[in-house]
Amino acid sequence: MSRLIYLDNAATTKVYPEVFEAMKPYFTECYGNPSSVYGFASKSKKAVEDARETVAKFLGAKASEIYFTGGGSESDNWAIKAVAEARKDQGNHIITSKIEHHAVLHTCEYLEKHGFEVTYVDVDENGVIRLDELKAAIRPTTILISVMFANNEIGTIEPVKEIGEIAREHGILFHTDAVQAYGHIPINVEELQIDLLSASGHKINGPKGIGILYLRNSVKLGAFIHGGAQERNRRAGTHNVPGIVGFGKATEIGAETMEKRAAYEIALRDRLIEGILERVPHARLNGHRTERLPNNVNISFEFIEGESMLILLDQQGVCASSGSACTSGSLDPSHVLLAIGLPHEKAHGSLRLTLSEETTREDVDFVVEQVVKIVERLRSMSPLYDDYCKNHA
Ligand SMILES: *Cc1c(COP(=O)(O)O)cnc(C)c1O
Repeated sequence: MSRLIYLDNAATTKVYPEVFEAMKPYFTECYGNPSSVYGFASKSKKAVEDARETVAKFLGAKASEIYFTGGGSESDNWAIKAVAEARKDQGNHIITSKIEHHAVLHTCEYLEKHGFEVTYVDVDENGVIRLDELKAAIRPTTILISVMFANNEIGTIEPVKEIGEIAREHGILFHTDAVQAYGHIPINVEELQIDLLSASGHKINGPKGIGILYLRNSVKLGAFIHGGAQERNRRAGTHNVPGIVGFGKATEIGAETMEKRAAYEIALRDRLIEGILERVPHARLNGHRTERLPNNVNISFEFIEGESMLILLDQQGVCASSGSACTSGSLDPSHVLLAIGLPHEKAHGSLRLTLSEETTREDVDFVVEQVVKIVERLRSMSPLYDDYCKNHA
């Protein structure tokens, strides 16, 4: 089977050839340490600062507000732990949502073991945070609101502008995990009143192991990695120059192509959603129908195990992902699907397909065809489906 249809771009993406080309010289030719003083290193230093400038411009921020990190998880950890530490005299309460990435949720759970209190706000059936609950959760001791920009499983885009307003009104810092949104939808940290923002290279056709934290200049936080003076004394460690260059180039291309790419992906996304929902009974779309990432499709199929679908799709050369964490050795269904109100069995029968600009109409039609066949085949072997049919005959 030589044909590969990669529909797992929320998990990671292919490095753009232009990004790879831009990175190459910084491995073999311009390998100087940007912190060194001699002329040879100044090229590396300039490359780092150029990338920082590109990222800042893209976010509507200042270059001095961009910190390079080892990825999205590190940025989330840094943002939340550093705010907790810096503001612990003002309060010990953090507000987040039930559908955050584990990099946020597990960090909050860690802080709960260290004297902090966390409110996990509910989302509605489309995965949109309940703003009334968010407001009601605010206490005099609330120091941070951390709500993701867009969800990695169901693609729902959160009302970030409203959250920014609420946070600012109450003098609470606002962090957003924008790993899935960055490079896909417009973000302006000033307009949206965001104080801290995380993004990651490998989700935007850049390299793995590089990310950024946007940190508003007026917010004073401590160092996250202690050591050298890199990143204004806040994130020690020799700069990952090729990674940073790659992140900058991926941002530049992302910014240039965003509008066209989104329109292209939305058309295919909707073709895929409609194709499946029209032909497969007992299936439903998870996530908001329109306030949704351009490349995300997430559908639940009753009477089916998502894992079985993944294996059968893989046999057809289709890379996809499911709504449960069985692959990681646990049988827990996704916390995101449970939070939007799916019962366990429906959460288990979910399929996530995330497109890219390389996805074609032919790919989409092939995948619809395969999904129809696979669902029929799995249901024909399902005693639950058999019972259902007997009861509804
Ligand atoms: C992928 C992802 C992360 C983690 O980013 P890494 O760079 O892989 O550490 C965090 N949050 C969201 C929403 C993600 O999709």
